[in-house]
Amino acid sequence: MSENIPSKIITRFPPSPTGWFHIGNARTALFNYFFTKKNNGTLKFRLEDTDRERSKPEYADDIVSGLKWLGVDIDYTNPYKQSENGDKYKKYLDLMLKNGSAYISQEEVKEEGQRAEVIRIKNQNKKIKYIDIIRGEIEVDTTELEDFVIAKSVTEPLYHLAVVVDDFEMGVTHVIRGEDGIYNTPRQILIQEAIGAPRPIYAHMPFILNEDRSKLSKRKQGELVSLTYYRNAGYLPEAMVNFLAFCGWNPGGEQEILSMTELIEKFDIMKVQKSGAIFNKEKLLWFNKEYIKRLPAERLEREITARLDKKYTYTKELLNKIIHIITERINTFGELEKYVETGEFDYFFIAPKPVKEMLIWKKDTNFSIPKNNLKKVLEMIKDISEADFTEEKLKTILMPKAEELGKGSVLWPLRVALSGRDRSPDPFTLLSILGRAESLTRIQTAINLL
Ligand code: GLU
Repeated sequence: MSENIPSKIITRFPPSPTGWFHIGNARTALFNYFFTKKNNGTLKFRLEDTDRERSKPEYADDIVSGLKWLGVDIDYTNPYKQSENGDKYKKYLDLMLKNGSAYISQEEVKEEGQRAEVIRIKNQNKKIKYIDIIRGEIEVDTTELEDFVIAKSVTEPLYHLAVVVDDFEMGVTHVIRGEDGIYNTPRQILIQEAIGAPRPIYAHMPFILNEDRSKLSKRKQGELVSLTYYRNAGYLPEAMVNFLAFCGWNPGGEQEILSMTELIEKFDIMKVQKSGAIFNKEKLLWFNKEYIKRLPAERLEREITARLDKKYTYTKELLNKIIHIITERINTFGELEKYVETGEFDYFFIAPKPVKEMLIWKKDTNFSIPKNNLKKVLEMIKDISEADFTEEKLKTILMPKAEELGKGSVLWPLRVALSGRDRSPDPFTLLSILGRAESLTRIQTAINLL
């Protein structure tokens, strides 16, 4: 295959701005980018906006900002738009009409009982063979395509003509696109032959499928198919890139966490799989968490404080104590945002108002048990200095007593007294985070309540 690779590789990513940036398209853009960068080529961006009714500038903006967010570092200035290049298509349509490879045909317009003109290609009705890097040799008998319509008029080209002209004029050497493109390829090859354009090398990427192998669709999965959903939900672009790279390809071996640079270096288009790639949401969460763990300290702090600041005021000292606890408990920063809203972590910042019934351990029979146990805990820790108020010290002091009186009967009310919740970090962690004074106050409040 290598002898067929032209000296300068030119690829393209030509989305139709008729909807929010689809993750399948984002994956296609990434594979183009990996392949192109690896081969020192150029990836060209163009907007296929010939469908004037469905194309919207906000969709084009969404696609561009999504690509930038992912780190697809290519030229987006004044993107080429098909809608602004009518002259180009007219030139080739005129040529085809002149050389007889296309002709004007009178069509009956059903509803109005009138006749209208369209331009059809003169199909040579032959078999064509082309190489798909991923699928091997593909042979198609083009006869059944008949003389298909390529334009409504010389100033109104249809999709296939515009794609072929643009790929030709942009010098595209490799067309790397989604599996659905397979059905377009024979028509596009016939047009290439008619205008004397060289045939690019094709690679059709497998679809991204749901776990039940159904197609990922906007109708069924809603916003989950748009890249913006993941941006808004606080996913990290590095995780998204790594995850999407593994949708249909993997570098082999054990290593799963790969940076953009490593992905480019390792990407091998010949190893992209033919069969559908499963969109595994759990795996995406796993990648995101791995990337959160690897964030540089300042960046992690920035992401976390951005969410905490929406509701709480706190000292840097407190932040330092809780940052790793928060990090352990989230897969995405969007989850933190939700936790802030629902008050999941309120106890770090605000004294809770425990519910009396929650303070009692499930096996205990009356409120005097947690009350007495909390009193004992208070006695044991009230004289510990602030400096000694550490997780380890507190554990050493309190654990033997808890074992003596029943762990649940001591540690459960203590934890609820400190957090007010039935889920929270363990009481030793909480005591050390809250510090001596605040801990004693919260325990006393719970005793009073009981
Ligand atoms: N505009 C087409 C799309 O968004 C691109 C198809 C192609 O890559 O040829 O599906």
